[in-house]
Amino acid sequence: MGMDVYGKAPTSEKGEYFRNSVWYWHPLAEYIQAAHPALAEPCQHWHTNDGDGLDAEQARALGEALRADIHKGTVAAYASAYAARIESIPREGCRYCEGTGTRRDEVGQQMGMVERGWCNACDGVGTCAPPEAHYPFDEANVAAFARFAIASGGFEIW
Ligand SMILES: [Zn+2]
Repeated sequence: MGMDVYGKAPTSEKGEYFRNSVWYWHPLAEYIQAAHPALAEPCQHWHTNDGDGLDAEQARALGEALRADIHKGTVAAYASAYAARIESIPREGCRYCEGTGTRRDEVGQQMGMVERGWCNACDGVGTCAPPEAHYPFDEANVAAFARFAIASGGFEIW
């Protein structure tokens, strides 16, 4: 599963195609909408594969705004605040072993987890990382998208 973003009239190879897994894409799109609401606004469907996007001028303006954010340190600051927030979310009790660290359901029995006192879902810890932990945000991804957007000649999100 992922998001494929196609340049409509790329001016260089960098503007032809940008791809993110959904895990990387959603935090990136959230940042874009939060940091640059006016620039993001012409695209209504940032989070779905509907072919929505920006035209050449809008895409370039957004890419340059993101680049400026990187230079000012805004993206790095956002990334560390983002990571700290995820870090602060408590881990969840593992539903496969009911928090015991030993998986006793049919799968656990068949795979010998009961004997071993282990659970493959939580590695025997009894808790799992919260869903938010699967959605990383980093500066390198913002930089890659900015590079793409500037050279894309407009883009569509599929
Ligand atoms: Zn477990």
